[in-house]
Amino acid sequence: ALPALHDASLLRTDALLGGEWVTGPSRFAVHNPAHGGALAEVSSADADLARLAVEAAERALPAWRARSARERGLLLGRWAQLLRQNADDLAQLMTAEQGKPLAEARGEVSYAASFLEWYAEEGKRVYGETIPSSDTNKRQWVWRQPVGVCAAITPWNFPLAMITRKVAPALAAGCTVMVKPAEQTPLTALAAAELALRAGLPAGVLAVLPASAEDSVVVGQTWCAHPTVRHLSFTGSTEVGRILMAQSASTLKRLSLELGGHAPFIVFDDADLDSAVEGAVQAKYRNTGQTCICANRLFIQAGIHDAFVEKLAERVAALHLGVGTQPGVQVGPLIDAQALAKVKAHVDDALALGATARVGGNLRTDLGPTFFEPTLLTGVTPKMRCAVEETFGPVAPVLKFDTEAQVIALANASEFGLAGYFYSRDIGRVIRVAEALDYGMVGVNTGLISSAELPFGGIKQSGFGREGGHQGLDEYLDTKLVCVGDV
Ligand code: ADP
Repeated sequence: ALPALHDASLLRTDALLGGEWVTGPSRFAVHNPAHGGALAEVSSADADLARLAVEAAERALPAWRARSARERGLLLGRWAQLLRQNADDLAQLMTAEQGKPLAEARGEVSYAASFLEWYAEEGKRVYGETIPSSDTNKRQWVWRQPVGVCAAITPWNFPLAMITRKVAPALAAGCTVMVKPAEQTPLTALAAAELALRAGLPAGVLAVLPASAEDSVVVGQTWCAHPTVRHLSFTGSTEVGRILMAQSASTLKRLSLELGGHAPFIVFDDADLDSAVEGAVQAKYRNTGQTCICANRLFIQAGIHDAFVEKLAERVAALHLGVGTQPGVQVGPLIDAQALAKVKAHVDDALALGATARVGGNLRTDLGPTFFEPTLLTGVTPKMRCAVEETFGPVAPVLKFDTEAQVIALANASEFGLAGYFYSRDIGRVIRVAEALDYGMVGVNTGLISSAELPFGGIKQSGFGREGGHQGLDEYLDTKLVCVGDV
């Protein structure tokens, strides 16, 4: 059943299009991953609705672009405030459809609001340049202007923050934007859309179009093929990222792709042991291991290996697994049966090839259909599946290493390049290893690296483009050269 909300009108099940709630031709069910029960039937967008949203966004563009950045910022700020004021309800909806513990869901609401707050300010600083000419009768400027109508396709693991992280810079830049949230988590997205309306966002400036898994493909195709859509931002799997990039070739869209990761988490002998253990818990088990920057391979240097495993095992064994709405729960269910099957396959494969489940390793069907114990595997080798692929679950595989050169080679031996972490107190090593890691983001002596003011994003097959920071605004701006002659 649905959670009881303080404000029941935050429960929306239609699409927001052109400032109105619109029903698509069919509906799809949203489930609670903790027990599999149905939560709501949500309108599914088809190609027609996707096209109508583009047209509404195009109509809304001139007036929105013409407003001052300050005015746009005030609206974003008001929206952020409403998200914060309704944090309890948003968190309830999020936990119901996504599964994360309520405390984490509340944290995400605040994180999501922080992007609106940050870009409400940063939108005022879209500076240009004056470039001296080699020709005395010319004056030359570089201006930056909004790219136009933008589309965003977002994942289920951060049902709110992955939306504001794209929408805030787009709107701040003067673009209009359409969002297709993940089919698993449309309710949080629609509640946020309701609050955007209440904040006073003009009609057509923001559209939110939920779609079933099948219709999501159609919406993606429609937006990719539409010449009016000038930018597509996507967070999700590398596989789908490749499809969207190929589909966008015909209209040469600008793209921001935040794709899969396979983060190494390295602990050198000279690390602060307690801090490294704490960082590993945060970087691994947050959101039940379902983030693209979760530590996916723990490389521990031989001299500190046993002590680290000992301490981490204690912490992992004490993690409270359960339904996200229950007090004190730290690790929730996985998103669905497919996710659970992958986690189990990775653990089974590692055990079959000689790894040891130091903590956990089992399904917990007594708790619900998609619960897996927080798990710590030791004796993992680079051949095992968990050392090669993104697990996206609460499993920490520990690999032992000897030298800095060896671990850098192991850490970089991946097609992915999103986030990497390491712990060391040797200043020379900190600089050397941070330089050597082929990752878009490197956390040194911390397991938490995301923040509205920082450029989040990857290299290699983790995608390109940045979200957050002043770099995140650049994605939504075109550069225009203005060259004035006959001065
Ligand atoms: P995950 O494996 O984490 O579910 P996906 O990449 O499959 O990640 O999904 C992320 C988002 O991409 C979701 O909103 C989903 O509906 C959407 N999506 C999946 N496949 C396609 C596709 N072929 N075209 C457009 N969107 C898609």
